[in-house]
Amino acid sequence: MSMFKDIPVDVGVIYEGERIRRNDMQVELGGPTVKEKFELAKVRSMDAIEDGKVTIIGPDIKDMKEGSVYPLGILVEAAGSTLDQQLEGVIERRIHGYLNYIEGFMHLNQRYDIWIRLGKKSFQKGLNSFEYVGKVLYKLFKSELPIIEKVQITFVTDPAKVLEMYPIAMQDYETRDAKARGLKDEEVDKFYGCVLCQSFAPSHVCVITPQRYSNCGAISWFDGRASAQVDPKGPVFAIERGELVNAEKGEFSGINETVKKRTLGEVNQVWLYTAFDHPHTSCGCFEAVAFYIPEVDGFGVVNRSFKGVTVNGLPFSTLADSTAGGRQIDGFHGMSIEYMRSKKFLAADDGWNRIVWLPKEVKERVKDFIPADVVNKIATEEDVQNIDALKAFLKEKNHPVVARWTETPTVEEAVPAETMEEGAMMPVATAATLPIMAGGFKIVLKDAKIYAKKVIIRTMKGEKKS
Ligand code: SF4
Repeated sequence: MSMFKDIPVDVGVIYEGERIRRNDMQVELGGPTVKEKFELAKVRSMDAIEDGKVTIIGPDIKDMKEGSVYPLGILVEAAGSTLDQQLEGVIERRIHGYLNYIEGFMHLNQRYDIWIRLGKKSFQKGLNSFEYVGKVLYKLFKSELPIIEKVQITFVTDPAKVLEMYPIAMQDYETRDAKARGLKDEEVDKFYGCVLCQSFAPSHVCVITPQRYSNCGAISWFDGRASAQVDPKGPVFAIERGELVNAEKGEFSGINETVKKRTLGEVNQVWLYTAFDHPHTSCGCFEAVAFYIPEVDGFGVVNRSFKGVTVNGLPFSTLADSTAGGRQIDGFHGMSIEYMRSKKFLAADDGWNRIVWLPKEVKERVKDFIPADVVNKIATEEDVQNIDALKAFLKEKNHPVVARWTETPTVEEAVPAETMEEGAMMPVATAATLPIMAGGFKIVLKDAKIYAKKVIIRTMKGEKKS
């Protein structure tokens, strides 16, 4: 793009979705090893903004040690005669898309979860300052959202300053989210869709309703409405709700039609309030994953910043891999933390009565929205570390899922495999990609679920059963 001739690397949509591996990175900004990081957009008055100004507080890219990780805060301040605060969420989410247009620059996630990598090749080409990154943001904001008349951008890498600004950003996110609470899906005739993540997950469309926040947790129904109004041809668009097909599951004819069109027929049916059968698709930047635990017939939820392994022995990254990519995976559900505050949170699956395990940090954040009679019955990593301990915990607390154990017996406890109906069997293995080595061939099964009466694992050498 000619408007970027003063930028030392290419800028364009073709670079969206580019991944930068650890070995190829010059520096990492934010990400899983940095606790405090953020990106925030604020609407200011016209006289408070110096148009085009880029400020760097702390070390610039060229002063950073190769291969190292630094904290980062990005503050985008915008002004315009018809611009109002309602658009802050919209402006902020565009940072993700615009930064990914830069060759060799990867931006993942949102808000307090940002994870950025700059590739070595782009650094060697001269992309060695936030000045350039700010210029790209400036030019794209001005050209793509004409409602913005002035914009200034600040990059903060000084750890003390990031620490100081972080709680302010967190408070801003909370204020924005709180505004969208209370409105019900049946009270509006339009929902909103977002395809910003299709560069990473081509068959993904976020359906944003008042009671189902976007997967990334960065776009509320109000943000969707504001975005579709100012930029109707942009990545966020209105969805006519259409007929209510299934109130319990959350199926609407308008959603099915739009998703079908926007995914070119890959996804035809979406149920908003369940993780089974036709769940909402999961892109890659969801804040958390709800994962089904067949042994207790309940769900665990794990968020991106949880460092350990969950109660089923798997870390967030593995569960996220099983969920992501724009697919509808039975029992795996990418979602935002804000959705957990909604009355429709997995409502068709029995909502909070079905949640059995959560990281303590997430439980703290949403505990005011968990029904009082369940809150102490949900385990965290401090209560249990494996499935057997979880079972004992749930039994002792008389968690609502315990009543299901007699209604619907679990595989290994109550029903001999020989007598089970095929449809009632639990898969012994579920995987997005499952490679099997056999007779010198490697067979790769995509989206596999394997049902078996017995699983025998033998070592290759000693032929010992384990
Ligand atoms: S997670 Fe959804 S709402 Fe958020 S940017 Fe991606 S597609 Fe848009």
